[in-house]
Amino acid sequence: MAELALSNLHKSFGATEVIRGVSLAAHSGEFVVFVGPSGCGKSTLLRMIAGLERSDSGTISIGVRDVTTTDPAKRGIAMVFQTYALYPHMSVAENMGFGLEMAGMAKAERQKLVRQAAEMLHLTDYLDRKPRQLSGGQRQRVAIGRAIVRNPDIFLFDEPLSNLDAELRVKMRLEIAKLHKDLGATMVYVTHDQVEAMTLADKIVVLRAGLVEQIGSPMTLYSDPDNRFVAGFIGSPR
Ligand code: ADP
Ligand code: MG
Repeated sequence: MAELALSNLHKSFGATEVIRGVSLAAHSGEFVVFVGPSGCGKSTLLRMIAGLERSDSGTISIGVRDVTTTDPAKRGIAMVFQTYALYPHMSVAENMGFGLEMAGMAKAERQKLVRQAAEMLHLTDYLDRKPRQLSGGQRQRVAIGRAIVRNPDIFLFDEPLSNLDAELRVKMRLEIAKLHKDLGATMVYVTHDQVEAMTLADKIVVLRAGLVEQIGSPMTLYSDPDNRFVAGFIGSPR
């Protein structure tokens, strides 16, 4: 049984069908990376998995649960956005604990989880700061921390490092790889960066205009791409 299974998902905005029949399965603990050109539907697909967009047809299941129409808060999923989406008026600790507060968790327990996540992400000294008093990398860590405290079965990352400079991107990539190893959670990760895709992924999904072009391990896609499009994305010399 796959941890996450998408079956023949379709989604239109107005007259334009942007997801045109996507199926894929991720095992528990797998790191799945979506790559594909701008506008091919990567964010829409993540938002559908998160429940922020409703699919027109097809099904989404997590473990044995069909979550196709399940409320986002009840899917056991946490999403990290490219723009961090932090609340500017809240401290780091409040940002990280806000989702738990909304879910009705008691303050003491919330604080414990926030502190644990802060330690994992080297944010312990910054818990009282506001987002504007943080660097880009620290802001992204807060956004990741907000996901970690919820202890989701599945993490979704939408180009989480694309606003960081090259050096910090490498550092954060290694931190995300370590998090994946430590937490053992299933992760679905969108990126434009071939190095991120090749080094983080157990499985890469190449998307093109709302369809899956090829799914495979980084090595398979690199050494045996189905076509020039896939080769172009994974950087094989062919
Ligand atoms: P990607 O993340 O791969 O760049 P998106 O999933 O953001 O692509 O977008 C896929 C297509 O759907 C694009 O053509 C985009 O303009 C369109 N789209 C995305 N969200 C909406 C929306 N809420 N309303 C209308 N069109 C949208
Ligand atoms: Mg996008």
